[in-house]
Formats: sequence, structure tokens, C-alpha cells
Amino acid sequence: MLVEKLYEGEARPRTPFSAGVIRMSMSEACTRRIAMEYLGYEVSVDPASDVYAARMQDGLLHEQDIVRRLLMKGVKIWNFGERQTWVTLKLHNLFWRGHPDLFCELEGKIYGLECKAFRGEVFERYVSSAEEVLPGRFVIRDLSVLMSGPFPLMGQVQLYLNTDKSQKLGIEGWLVLIKNKNTAELAECLVPRIPDYLEKVASRWRGFWALVSVGRLPPRGFSKSSANCRLCPFFEPCWGVLSRVSPGVKELDEPALMEKVRLWREAAQLESMASVRKELARIAFGEAAIAHDSRTLKLGGLEVRVNNRSRTGLDSGYTSELLTELLARGVISSEQYDSCWSETEYTEVRVVDREPEKCKITISWEE
Ligand code: SF4
Repeated sequence: MLVEKLYEGEARPRTPFSAGVIRMSMSEACTRRIAMEYLGYEVSVDPASDVYAARMQDGLLHEQDIVRRLLMKGVKIWNFGERQTWVTLKLHNLFWRGHPDLFCELEGKIYGLECKAFRGEVFERYVSSAEEVLPGRFVIRDLSVLMSGPFPLMGQVQLYLNTDKSQKLGIEGWLVLIKNKNTAELAECLVPRIPDYLEKVASRWRGFWALVSVGRLPPRGFSKSSANCRLCPFFEPCWGVLSRVSPGVKELDEPALMEKVRLWREAAQLESMASVRKELARIAFGEAAIAHDSRTLKLGGLEVRVNNRSRTGLDSGYTSELLTELLARGVISSEQYDSCWSETEYTEVRVVDREPEKCKITISWEE
């Protein structure tokens, strides 16, 4: 078959994450997903698979098409192909690295240029409020469209705008050029520096390396039904048993399960009777110790000791408030705050009996 051979040898997996370095292109991604990639979790979809490689190849072809169209029109562009350079940024003790698609010179000013290609319906979302200056050519003035959607583009662009390279080239604005893969229509958006947005992006990553360096995962960044999670290669390890069950209620009456319902109720009733009986006995033993003025009683093989004890435990609610306050006052760093918590993953199956009267116990209870 021909299709079997088409992607062969084209796989171009991304370089693995290096400790302490965050890719600018992943700045808006789920931090938990990046942590799982870094920590080597098993993926549900292999990012080095042929399908993934084909998608990457498709993106590259659209980028090359934009480069070709710009060169044909005599636009001065550079930083493509083999000569592409890295840019870096240190922000809040986080080290960022990225490679901008292009730089260009327009009317004597230098801009960064990010090329994206999306299928028709995604493109339509980007240009829904844009101005169509020529047929099939749009100018996006509402910057909020780059800040929304499952994978916002704005974080990456803000990081680019603040690199040393941008300062050196005197770049004040970054152009985002979006191509409609279905129709080859184009849209552009000129993005200025937005310091608040940069802070927002960076703050998502504070404490990230402190967590992953001890093998812990940040909290989930998206809901299970979100596009981010549905397309995430770590969906199954991230959501565990929840990745295999849908929300919603199902009423079942399979005989084997109904037998387990009966057993559950019987066990619940026995547990409750057992704890009441033990408590009654404990009270009687305590009273007997007082009545017989003895700290230790021997009763038919049981040795009963009566003591005063106290136990000191952390008040987790107050501790949490205190840590938050210390963080807010800058007494502790976010890394120290994060390392105060540990997380244990487990599968909980809770059962609430809505009809406990259905329990039929044959054991007698005599008071
Ligand atoms: S499944 Fe969703 S929450 Fe989990 S790592 Fe992936 S994107 Fe993040």
C-alpha cells in the first residue's frame, strides 16, 4: 500500500526538555502536561508517531508557503530555514528559549513575524471580528482573539517581544500571520508589548521546576472535556481511571452486581454494629476501672488499661491560611510554598446508600 509508506522517515520529534528551560512556544500549554513530558510519563499518543510527524510536516509546508509568498513580493525577511536562531529570556528566575519563525523589515522598521496555519473553522474564529481589507486578506485589531481559545498565541509572542534579541533589533511589535489551510486566505495582527499578559504567563510557571525536580506534578490546567485534554498525549496517565469513565448516571440491575449491593449493605450494617458494640464495651471497661480503682483490668483474657492521652495534629485549614499569608507577604518563596504540599494519586470509589433500610441482617443484637 502506498499510504503506509508516505510518512516513513519523516518523524521529527521535538528535542527533549532540558532541566530549567521552558519553551516559549509552550508557554500557554498545560504545565502538568509539560511536567509529564519532562518526567517521562508514558504517552497515550506517541509524539514521535508518523501521524504527529505528518502534522508537523504539514505545518512546515504552510510556513514555507508564507515565506515563499513574502519573498515573491520582495518583503525583506530573514531567520528561516537553516539559519534560524534561538532567542532567550530570563524572567522571574525562569529561563525561556524559543525560535521565532521570521524577522522582517517593513518601511524601515523591524518586526518579529510568527506564522501559523489553521484549518478553516479555526481561521474563521480568528477573523470573526477582523477587517477584510482586500478579498481574503484580513487585519485583526482585537488582540483578545490571540489570548483566547485552547492554545492562545499571545504568551509566545509576548515572550519573543521581551527577549534581548528584540531589544537589540529595536523591535516594538510582533506580527502574527495566520493562514487558512483550506483557502490560503491570510490574516495579520500586530502585537505590542503587554506587560500584564507577560506577567500572567510567567506566573503560571512559578514553582514549576521546584515541583518536577522532586517528581511531583502541577495541578491539572484544564477540564477533562476541554480541547486541550482531548488532544493531550498524556490524557490517560493524567486522568487515571477518570479517563475511561464518562460523567453521568447509569442505573444497572445486573444480578452479579445486585448480589454485591446486598453484601455491601450487610457489611456496612455489621461495621456499624461492631463499632457501637466496641464503644459500649469501652465505656463499661472505663467505668469498671474507676469502680475498682485500678488502671489495668484483666477480663477473660483481655487486658484493659485506662490512660489519659492527648494528640497534637496540624490544623490543616489554619496551616493553609498561614502559608498563603506568608507567601503573600514575601516571607516564603513560591517554591517553598509549593514544597509544603505533597500529592497522592489514588482512585476513590465512594458509596452512599440511599436506601439503607433494604439491608437484611440476620445477626441478633441484644442490649
Ligand atoms: S490531560 Fe489535560 S490536564 Fe492533564 S496534562 Fe493533558 S492538558 Fe493537562
